[in-house]
Amino acid sequence: MPHTLPLTAPAVCSLPETFYSRIRPEPLAQPYWVAQNHALAAEMGLRPSEIFDNPDNLLYLAGSAPAYDPVPIATVYSGHQFGVYVRQLGDGRAALLGDSTGGGQRREWQLKGAGKTPYSRFADGRAVLRSSIREYLCSEAMHGLGIATTRALALTGSNDAVYREEAETAAVVTRIAPSFIRFGHFEYLYHTGQHHNLPVLADFLIEHHFPECREADNPYLAFFQTVSQRTAELIAAWQSVGFCHGVMNTDNMSALGLTIDYGPFGFLDHYDRRHVCNHSDSGGRYAYNEQPYVAHWNLSRFASCLLPLVPEGALIDELERFPEAFQTAYTAKMRAKIGLQTEEKTDGELIGDMFAALQGSKVDFTLFFRHLANVGNTHGEPLPQDLAALFQGPADAFVHWIGRYRGRLRAENSNPETRAERMNAVNPLYVLRNYLLEQAIEQAKNGDFREIERLHRCMQNPFEARREFADFAERPPEWAGGICVSCSS
Ligand code: AMP
Ligand code: MG
Repeated sequence: MPHTLPLTAPAVCSLPETFYSRIRPEPLAQPYWVAQNHALAAEMGLRPSEIFDNPDNLLYLAGSAPAYDPVPIATVYSGHQFGVYVRQLGDGRAALLGDSTGGGQRREWQLKGAGKTPYSRFADGRAVLRSSIREYLCSEAMHGLGIATTRALALTGSNDAVYREEAETAAVVTRIAPSFIRFGHFEYLYHTGQHHNLPVLADFLIEHHFPECREADNPYLAFFQTVSQRTAELIAAWQSVGFCHGVMNTDNMSALGLTIDYGPFGFLDHYDRRHVCNHSDSGGRYAYNEQPYVAHWNLSRFASCLLPLVPEGALIDELERFPEAFQTAYTAKMRAKIGLQTEEKTDGELIGDMFAALQGSKVDFTLFFRHLANVGNTHGEPLPQDLAALFQGPADAFVHWIGRYRGRLRAENSNPETRAERMNAVNPLYVLRNYLLEQAIEQAKNGDFREIERLHRCMQNPFEARREFADFAERPPEWAGGICVSCSS
């Protein structure tokens, strides 16, 4: 049976050939499905059975088909990794298979872990099952949270060995996105002196993803403004759910403002502004509270690549606007999280002081906002018990803060019932905590993929409490404190 994937040649192939190489995925032996995303298939205008019941599609999406048509490609990019420029990175283990247009949107299909490419450097082009489960589930969890992200259509595995700290097994994620272009793609063209290709790449993105920029006096400046704004909104969204990316190198920054490259990410369990989720990040460059600053710095790297296209002063002006754009997006998200309906100039301070009062109290970030929803307006009323129970350290500063918060609620005549409903619609009850992933990964290593499916189903709608997922809403157990995620993938 031939494969039935609705793929056409990647639009990216219209770019100059310096930008990519044609590649051939390297087959894995006897691949099997680990996860199938039926919901995404349907969004893409596909019948899930048509995609997932065909053994040739399985081979195709594991990189193991005898032939690939259209011809897959890998693209080249550079990047600043931990602040240091690295000239040649690129899709070292990603194969862009082609595009589909179903569901009213053009989407690119990419296999991650399907073998070596000209950009693999000394690495093996593979991805292990553990990290692939993390990517598959977290991209879908982020989507469930309403946060812009690459998606995951399928996860295939094979018993072929992949060597990291120890022997593990291989897996391939089918990633889906409107575009996988990163800041790093521009950095490559700029820093290798291919300035004539910068407008070609920018025009490509404008044509396919930012058509409104065409009308502007300088479309390239408008393009940068849009990327900057989207990045501000993306990071505000991350901060609002306690998401730490872990490796915010410029090559992991999407030009479309999507969350991309799920590595040693983590959601905050207890609130700690200095939390570092990546074990290898000893300096805390990518700590939770650093993410907005890093995004700004990354945008400055990106802006410098547009110098041949946009006057320097205009780029600097735009960069200088970023902190405010971020703050506006962040404050709006946080206002909604604490249930405010009106805007006051002092809201930023109120929110900042709330977090200052939480620092050191070991309060679970996610559950805090769910329980905050049950605070009444009345001055002096005791805190709801489940909220008070979250504090493992002094709560005095928080009790003081609650007084101000209640004053603010009364001033806008907040109705406690409708406020709780509103808050629960924006504050997730479930996030993809590392220990939940660990459990699913352990079971998957033993050939049982049911927990992956259960987590996926839960995270598709993380706001609605459901009895069958009660265990996912609990505070992490003691042993989870020791989980440490490295870059190894
Ligand atoms: P990352 O840290 O995952 O964002 O990857 C940084 C760079 O290393 C990118 O160019 C990746 O394609 C490449 N890379 C990471 N892991 C591998 C691997 N196992 N094989 C080939 N290239 C890899
Ligand atoms: Mg990367």
